[in-house]
Amino acid sequence: MKGRNLLMIPGPIEFTPEVMASMAQPTTSHVAPNFIECFGESLEMMRDVFLAPSAQPFILAGSGTLGMDAAMANVLQPGDGVLTVNSGYFSDRMGDIARRYGGRVTNLSADPGDIPDASEVARALEAGDFAIVTITHVDTSTGVLADVEGIAGVARDAGCLVILDSVCGTAGAECRTEDWGVDIHLTASQKAIGVPPGLALLTVSPAAMEVFESRETPVPSYYADFAEWLPIMRAYEERRPGYFGTPAVNLVAALNTSLKQILAEGMDARFARHERLAGAFRSGIRALGLDIVPASDELAAPTLTAIRYPDGVGPDLVPEIGAGGILTAGGLHPEIKQTYFRVGHMGAVNAADILATLGAIERALAAKGYEFECGSGLAAAQRALCD
Ligand SMILES: *Cc1c(COP(=O)(O)O)cnc(C)c1O
Repeated sequence: MKGRNLLMIPGPIEFTPEVMASMAQPTTSHVAPNFIECFGESLEMMRDVFLAPSAQPFILAGSGTLGMDAAMANVLQPGDGVLTVNSGYFSDRMGDIARRYGGRVTNLSADPGDIPDASEVARALEAGDFAIVTITHVDTSTGVLADVEGIAGVARDAGCLVILDSVCGTAGAECRTEDWGVDIHLTASQKAIGVPPGLALLTVSPAAMEVFESRETPVPSYYADFAEWLPIMRAYEERRPGYFGTPAVNLVAALNTSLKQILAEGMDARFARHERLAGAFRSGIRALGLDIVPASDELAAPTLTAIRYPDGVGPDLVPEIGAGGILTAGGLHPEIKQTYFRVGHMGAVNAADILATLGAIERALAAKGYEFECGSGLAAAQRALCD
């Protein structure tokens, strides 16, 4: 089909035909019985997808940044110590939000492509007075994966609430929210959850709800205040109508479809598929003589890969790959922006997409004069996929 592109960026991603068809259903009233069922069922399914059986789910109209904002606005009290385990661009944003609400932010940073590990976090927590630890599950600017289990463990031991920005991870990168001790797990619809942009999704642990309920100062955001949304989420889950702000009716219908597809695949199978495809993609990239931004394979995310340009090749590689029908993204981390590009591989992604992407990268590299054995990346990825 002429003019058909494959969207391989870190969100929005390719969505399934069933999700797109749900978007196109006639918009119903937000208090119609069929929509109440759709919303209520989506809240219930969120607990299974986030692996957070005791948590309170929230579905809000807005982007992932609203989810970050809502998390901070509701559980941070002015003067609270916040430790941001910083792996790049979106960790910085979380720190900015905490500062805006009066938090005392300590940034625990690493070089681009790296992230502080659990023992460094433990040491930092001992050295200060902290109420909240924030983790970016997959840093979208570098493709670095956080050790959420390890970091959340030491944060809980230190009596801190854990806020996880998994906008580029949820339903792609393994997260056992409740078992690992994550209090607020937030994401956005357009990434591995597989729904067009426009929804912020959060699950909030009983401990975090308690912190919210016992706060001494009002939540400094009107739209993001859990006090306004909690009765609405409860009403829909009990299959009663409720209103604070009009829900994004068509997006919630699409979310309902996507959550069903995710649960039909099964969480373990879904995490394993992302690992497998990402591993095959990295094999292909390495066989071409290219390097990834993450410092090691253990730090490489299953949902997105950040790839350094080889010598003699620069940011004009991305439009060249685009001319081959595959849309990828340029660099984002401010310190190394011009030196790498990013490929998203999450949600409905399959082996054919991985091979098509490597093929387009090879052709673009050849067009830019990079010397390599044509087909070697594809062959390496295909070997990994045949294993
Ligand atoms: C995409 C992303 C965000 C921001 O989400 P928006 O929907 O663009 O507001 C935040 N954090 C991470 C890790 C992301 O990947």
